[in-house]
This record gives sequence, C-alpha cells and structure tokens, in this order.
Amino acid sequence: MVILDDLSTGSIENIEPYLDNGKVRFVRGSVTDADLVDELMRGTGTCVHLASAVGVQMIVSEPLDTLMRSVRGSNVVMYSATRNGVRVLFSSTSEVYGKQTHSALTEEDDLIFGSPAKARWTYATAKTFGEALLHGYHRQRGADATVVRLFNTVGPRQTGTYGMVLPRFVRQALSGQSLTVYGDGEQTRCFTHVRDSVSALLALLDSEGTAGRTFNIGSASPVAVVELARRVIERADSPARIVLVPYREAYGDGFEELGIRRPDTSALKELTGWQPRFSVDEAIDDVIAHERARMEPAPPLPHVLETPGLA
Ligand code: UDP
Repeated sequence: MVILDDLSTGSIENIEPYLDNGKVRFVRGSVTDADLVDELMRGTGTCVHLASAVGVQMIVSEPLDTLMRSVRGSNVVMYSATRNGVRVLFSSTSEVYGKQTHSALTEEDDLIFGSPAKARWTYATAKTFGEALLHGYHRQRGADATVVRLFNTVGPRQTGTYGMVLPRFVRQALSGQSLTVYGDGEQTRCFTHVRDSVSALLALLDSEGTAGRTFNIGSASPVAVVELARRVIERADSPARIVLVPYREAYGDGFEELGIRRPDTSALKELTGWQPRFSVDEAIDDVIAHERARMEPAPPLPHVLETPGLA
C-alpha cells in the first residue's frame, strides 16, 4: 500500500507506526502533481482519494486554497485513475447537503447551498464539483468510481487546529481552559467514530456494484454540541467550564451555521450490512486517552547495560 500526502494538514506521526512493516510505503507529495499521481496509479488497483483541505476554520480563512487544491487534485486523480483502470473511492462530505434541514438525509436529496460569496460554502462547492467530475468520468469514460459522504468523523489523532470540535474540546478540557461552544450549542451532529468510517470504506471496497453510486457514512445518533461539551468535561473529569462564543467571533461576519445534519445510511447497509459499532462516548474516551498520552513527557531512553566480555 502507498500513502501519498503533502502533510499540509496531516502529520507523519499518524502513520509512522505502520511504515516499519514493509507493507506500507509513504510518499510525500501532492495530489495536484500529475506525474507523481500517474506513476503511483500505475502500480495499484484501487485508490482511496481522501486528500483535501479540512476544517471549517481553514475553509473560512483560506477559501482559494481550499477550492483549488480540491478541484485540481480531484481532476488529476480521476484522470489518472481512469487512464490506468484504477477503481476510486472519493471522499466527499455531509457539507454538500448544505442547508437541507430534514432529519435523515438521503443520497438523492437536493443540495442547498448559500451564496458562493460566503466562504463557508467553498468546501461544499469544491466537493460537489469533485462528485460531478467523478460522475462525468464514470458516465463518459467508464471509470469505476464511487462517492462517499462522510458525516463528522471523529477519533484519536484528529487535529483540532482547523476547527474540528472534538479534539478542540478535549484539549481544552485537559488543559483546564473553557470549552468554546459556538452559537447556542443546540446544533446537532452525528459524530462517527473513525473506526466505523474506515470499516464502511473497507466494506464498500469489498462490494460489487458501487460504480457511479454515492453512499452516506455516519452514525444515526445526533448529539447537540453543548451536550458534547458536557460529556467531554464529565469523561475527562475536568474542572473546565463551557463558554458560548457567537459565530461571528468564531468565524467572522456572514457565517452560516447548519442546525441539523443526520444521515440516512440505508443504501450502505443494504449493500454491505454495515452498522456503526462505536458510540460517541467511546469516541470521546479514545480521544481523551490519545490526547493524555500526547501531553505526557516522552519516556526516557532505555538504559543500555554494558555487557562484560563483548567488544
Ligand atoms: N464547534 C464549536 N466549538 C469549536 C469548534 C466547533 O462549538 O471549538 C461547533 C461548530 O460550530 C459545529 C460543530 O461544533 O456546529 C461541529 O464542528 P466541526 O468543525 O467539527 O464540523 P462541521 O460539522 O462544522 O463540519
């Protein structure tokens, strides 16, 4: 297996433990590098295209980069995969549903965005373009390609730097800072443990009949953001408090928040039998354990004993 990453938002520590077993190779580079992508495609049968700018914070502060890296990268990946007969799983996002408010979003639902002049919609626009591109390659050039829409994937090793709420809350709770709940905190999300998201991707890769289709991946249990904050404080046994931060302070003027975002995953279940196995509390506990371990000082180097008689 080859991992291609430019490490612009990711971290080498997340994959380092897997690089020693001889089965995983890491290449530092960009999905916008057509020659490199083509070289790697020639040696593989399947490509899981996850590369993207992440996090609302980054999207709002760097809309141009979000848009262009995603659009260019997806075109390079789809062109090369199609040319080399490689199957593609393209990760899109629940953001593409935009302002849809009904409670179980299906893959056939219309996508309702706000104005493209508002930076929030940049990510949805970029990912929707990626989806449309994939369908174009599938219909016109026979690409074996599938879209997955991920709903609020959370878990250990996720960074909070670009907005993601759970690692931010956990770090705040462990360091005794106030947990910054945006808006009134009543907005809900279906937080999905990364292990469930990954098992869904693997189940799709094991299935026939996915080409040209779209699948939601996400848990069925909405949790209000303020409730998430309460649970983090409780499970981390932290004295931290909750502070409500207006959206305008968090993301600047003109930010539009989404109240509800809940997936209907029956298409995925019907095809693969997939069900989420981990609760949001398990995700919280795993993130707490990971962040605690990060905060601990590194263990001392092992003491090297001198062995008498050996040169
Ligand atoms: N959020 C929050 N405090 C933070 C970061 C995020 O209250 O420090 C909220 C954010 O406004 C949204 C939810 O948590 O309602 C999930 O945010 P995230 O960026 O993780 O994912 P999103 O659902 O926005 O893609």
